[in-house]
Amino acid sequence: MKKWILLPIAIFIACDNADETGKLDPKAPDFAEKAAAIHRDAVLVDTHIDIPYRITHENVNVSERLEDGHFDFVRAREGGLNAPFFAVYVSSKFNKPGTDADARGGAFAEAMRVIDLVDSVVSANAGVAALASSPDEVERIVANGKMAVCMGMENGAPIEGSFKKLRTLHQKGIRYITLTHAKDNHICDSSYDKRHTNKGLTAFGKKLIPELNRIGMMVDISHVSDETFWQAIELSQAPMIASHSGLRTFRHMERNMSDSMLVALAKNGGVFQYCFGSFFITDEVGIPAQLRYEFKDSIDTRYKDDPQKAAALYEHYLEEHPAPNTDIDEVARQIDYAVKLAGIDHIGIGSDFDGVGAVPVGLEDVSKYPALTKKLLALGYTAADIKKINGGNLLRVWREVEAHSSQHSATH
Ligand SMILES: [Zn+2]
Repeated sequence: MKKWILLPIAIFIACDNADETGKLDPKAPDFAEKAAAIHRDAVLVDTHIDIPYRITHENVNVSERLEDGHFDFVRAREGGLNAPFFAVYVSSKFNKPGTDADARGGAFAEAMRVIDLVDSVVSANAGVAALASSPDEVERIVANGKMAVCMGMENGAPIEGSFKKLRTLHQKGIRYITLTHAKDNHICDSSYDKRHTNKGLTAFGKKLIPELNRIGMMVDISHVSDETFWQAIELSQAPMIASHSGLRTFRHMERNMSDSMLVALAKNGGVFQYCFGSFFITDEVGIPAQLRYEFKDSIDTRYKDDPQKAAALYEHYLEEHPAPNTDIDEVARQIDYAVKLAGIDHIGIGSDFDGVGAVPVGLEDVSKYPALTKKLLALGYTAADIKKINGGNLLRVWREVEAHSSQHSATH
């Protein structure tokens, strides 16, 4: 009997000020307040934040509010960021000697250095953050009111052909590995490297994918070449992620995912984490930026003995060609495009904050995530949708990767 009385009340609470589909009315006076509450309730995971790189090079103190850059713990809390993945980025110059002209080795040691750096940053901020290496830990830390800092490694070079080193990286807390970065490495080809040395995965790379599945390491296909992507998705027995990528439909570059890749990733059960770098969002921003970099490179080379002349020429170029930017509305539109293509269960956020130059107007730093939630709600997304995009999808994939590992790692 009680059931019949309680049920309509429960429905009423769930639909409070939302229509029967759960959508909010953006014109309602309490829309902003409701949007803020929905943002707060969803566990927000961002799979790619390059702050370790910035700390290495600029020695910034992320405990306090910084005037520039994208991440610090103060702004992250304002933005409701619950679980940032700090990128353990290993530059291609540390790749195995012989894989390209600049490769000099030392990748494993460099990864260890960055992991130690992340450990010390989190220890120094123990009042507000703790390290997490599983979705359960993320949820426990977040429930205790702290930020759960996770680690993903950008570039698989530190594996150095050794499953033992891979296991050490896993023990240290790395939970996804971006197979490569800017250059073809000992695992696979990069989207940025025009040589396409291996036509996809190397022989080692083909053995590595099942091993990553077996130990419970998420496979990250951001940065890889198309051939690498298609071979990896064929081999992977567990869902994969694109930790920080854009959409090729709007920004035509191999670094971004084509529609068919996105659909295939969804079919694999994986998740595409949308990147906020303006360069990766539209051709209108990316192509002029590319031309600007090329111009700068060419005058820096031509006037290498006269840097003042080079600087003056570049300044003149910038006056003649003001850099266009994009905005948060375009980001919301593109996320909506990706959701319509791949489904609500396969899209998330991997900003690449502190790893990119220009970011869209309205998404200037980690304090601005709530504005994106608001935009998506205004487009008709529900609280349940926001929960998925803002972190639920990534946590689901991570759990599936863990489950696959526990079923297949008897000989760990
Ligand atoms: Zn990257």
